[in-house]
Order: sequence, then structure tokens, then C-alpha cells
Amino acid sequence: MNLAERDHNVIWHPYTQMKTAALPVPIVRGEGALLFSEDGTSYVDAVASWWVNLHGHAHPYIAQKVTEQLNTLEHVIFAGFTHPAAVTFAERLLQILPQGQSRIFYSDNGSTAVEVALKMAIQYWNNFGTPKKKIIAFRDSYHGDTFGAMSVSARSAFTVPFWSYLFEVQFIDVPTPGNEEESVKQLETCALAGDVAAFIYEPLVLGTAGMVMYTPEVLDRLIEICRQHDILTIADEVMTGFGRTGRTFATDYLQQKPDMVCLSKGLTGGTMALGATSCSEKVYEAFLHDDKGKTLFHGHSYTANPVACAAGLASMDLLLQEETQESINRIVQRHAAFAASIKNLPQVLEVRQQGTILAVEFEDGATSYFSDLRDTLYSFGLEKGVILRPLGNIIYVIPPYCITDQQLDQVYQAIVGMQEIVTGKRHHPRPDLDMLHD
Ligand SMILES: *Cc1c(COP(=O)(O)O)cnc(C)c1O
Repeated sequence: MNLAERDHNVIWHPYTQMKTAALPVPIVRGEGALLFSEDGTSYVDAVASWWVNLHGHAHPYIAQKVTEQLNTLEHVIFAGFTHPAAVTFAERLLQILPQGQSRIFYSDNGSTAVEVALKMAIQYWNNFGTPKKKIIAFRDSYHGDTFGAMSVSARSAFTVPFWSYLFEVQFIDVPTPGNEEESVKQLETCALAGDVAAFIYEPLVLGTAGMVMYTPEVLDRLIEICRQHDILTIADEVMTGFGRTGRTFATDYLQQKPDMVCLSKGLTGGTMALGATSCSEKVYEAFLHDDKGKTLFHGHSYTANPVACAAGLASMDLLLQEETQESINRIVQRHAAFAASIKNLPQVLEVRQQGTILAVEFEDGATSYFSDLRDTLYSFGLEKGVILRPLGNIIYVIPPYCITDQQLDQVYQAIVGMQEIVTGKRHHPRPDLDMLHD
């Protein structure tokens, strides 16, 4: 039995219909932007392994720092104890995080980073004795797969079985170009109705919604309204953090700063599972009390795992190098040139770019994650040696920053090839399952 067959006997994969899915591609090694399968085939990792990888696979510097940490201290309980990696990483995160963040709460993934932020926001008001019940979120948002994170995410086809278990959220439209005023109006209406604890948002780019983008100017207006109405703001930078949007954080494009920031994915450069929720001193102070009931009673066994923090520190060293910043700028420019070259093709509905994130929306009736087109495009990419996971008819590129020009060309060529497939195919929309997701 080969690896894929052994896998098929014992493993249940994420976001995968195990009955019909093709056998998984067995990857045995990674180097730079490339992944190598058992039979020696190489793939350009154009999705940064689900948006986590920043500096390439098996990076020797990160590997060295992780090894040193493993040989020194692999883990220690984080209640009542601390360790150098967690403290140093928190100090350094606060130096690069948007202004106003003053405390780091560690967890182990993006969903938990969001859960922690939501719990901080809700308990913040409870601790003052003025509980507020409502949370505002974007209608098409994605904040994770645990129950709180699902609750503040789009009511999509992926969460149907759980809808009746999710807490109620006030959804407002995403302020995409042309929809700004409507979105602002909706937020104002919610704010005026009162009882709102927090507004959670993916700044500038909604990833899972299909790399949907909107401007910093309108987000500034939304946050400003929240300020005026005493609504806490939570920036979910799980995907956008650490250079993806061209600046260190998407929030760096804004005048208004959030009360809390959620981090994961690129936090360790894609090496280890780690989550972090940062908050302002104002939020933190609401939990300081002689009454023990006002404590934030939340924690995970692997909170602030030293090896993960060491990976995070090593990744930050690399991120702050001039060379990496140059690579980011190079990708931004190459994306822009490619976008300009394809935007007038007949099958291309829209090309969107925010920094190193590029999305190409193909014309097609069926924008569903479940459509055959999605599977056809996905397989086509693999045949061309490129890992691209279409969100329905939307192809996106979110590469490791070390990707070479040649590898980028290979990715762009695969996308141009996909355009021809789209021409040959027409699909019937399935309105009951028309939500995008990944
Ligand atoms: C991926 C993602 C999450 C969830 O992170 P996990 O580590 O997959 O739980 C939350 N928010 C955003 C914006 C994301 O892209």
C-alpha cells in the first residue's frame, strides 16, 4: 500500500467529502515555495499551505531556532509559569502590532484567537456590570470553525447543521466598492439600537468569502462609528497579518485602530500551530479586580508553547529583514502587472489585488465551492505543478514571500490556462449552496 492508500484507511481530512474525494497527494519534503511528492513531482505552493507559510518550507533558520528550543524547553504550563520565548515574542509582537495594543493572550490557532477576543469583549461589559448582548460582523465573513467563531461567520452552506446552535449576530454588508454607504448605514442602525458589545471584521480582505476587498477609508468610517457608540472593535488579522496585504498588518493602512487583534496562520511563518489575541490596556484593565469572578477564565493546554513561540520569533526575524520586504514589494509589483495583462480577457470578470494577495474571478454562473468547475480548475492546477485552491470560480494566489519570479510565472501561466477551461464550460447555478467557503 502506498502512503495515500494507507491515509485513506485511517484518516478523515478537513473540508473533504471522503466518499468522493481523490486520494490526497503525499508530500514528503518541502523547500522554498516548493513541495515534493513521494514520486518526486514538485508543486509550487501558491496558497502558502492554507495561507500560513511566509518564508518557504523547511526554512533552515526557523528549523535551527525550533531545534534549539526543543533541546532547551519543549513545554511548560502557562498558568503560574512563564518562559523566555513567550515573553520575548510578546514584547516583539507589541513593537510591530498596530498602535494601542498592549497585552498578548496566547492560544493555538485562528479560531481560538477569535474565541478569546469574543470572550474578552463580552466579559469586558459584564465586568462593568453593563452587559451588552450583540455582536456585529460582516455578512460574508469567516472567523473560524469553533462555535463562537462560526457564530460570527457567514451563515453558509458549510454550517447549516449548526445554525440553530449559533448565537445571534447582527450582520452588515461588506463595504465593497459601490456598497460603502449601505454598509455604513447598516452599522449606524445597529449602533443606534444599542446593546452592542463588539464589531469583528477581516480588515481590507475577506479571505474565505472569495478574497473580497474593500478600502481602508470605509473601514475607518465603520470603526469611527463604533468608537462613538462605545462598541469594541476586533480586527481579525489571522489571514491578513505579517505582510500579506503589503504592509505588516492590514490595520497599518488605517487611521483608526482596533481594541483587539487576532493573529495566527503567518504568526509562526507557517511552522507551528499558534494563536494570539492582543488587546488594548483599556480592555485588559477591565479584568483587573479583587473579585476573582472578573478573571478571564480561558486557557489551552498548549498556551504559549515554547517551540511555537520560538518559531514565531524566528519567522519575525526573517520578516523584518530588508530582503523579505523587497520580496513582498516584488510580488506586489508582479501581481499588478499580471492583473493588468489579464483583466480584459473575456472570461475574466474581475481581478482584485491587495498587496501579495491576488484574486481572479472567472465569469461563470456557478460560484459555488461545490461546483464541478472548482474541482476541474483545482485538478488542472495540480497537473501544471501548481497548488491553487479555487473558491468556486475565484482563483487566488497568496504565495510564500520567497517564491521566485520563475515560480510566479508558472502560477500565472496556470491561471491563464484555467481561463480556457472556463470558456469551454458552463454550469447551472445551485442557489441553495451558493455560498463560498474554504
Ligand atoms: C483561517 C482563518 C481563521 C481560522 O483560523 P484557524 O487557525 O484555521 O482556526 C480565522 N479568521 C480568519 C480571517 C481566517 O482566515
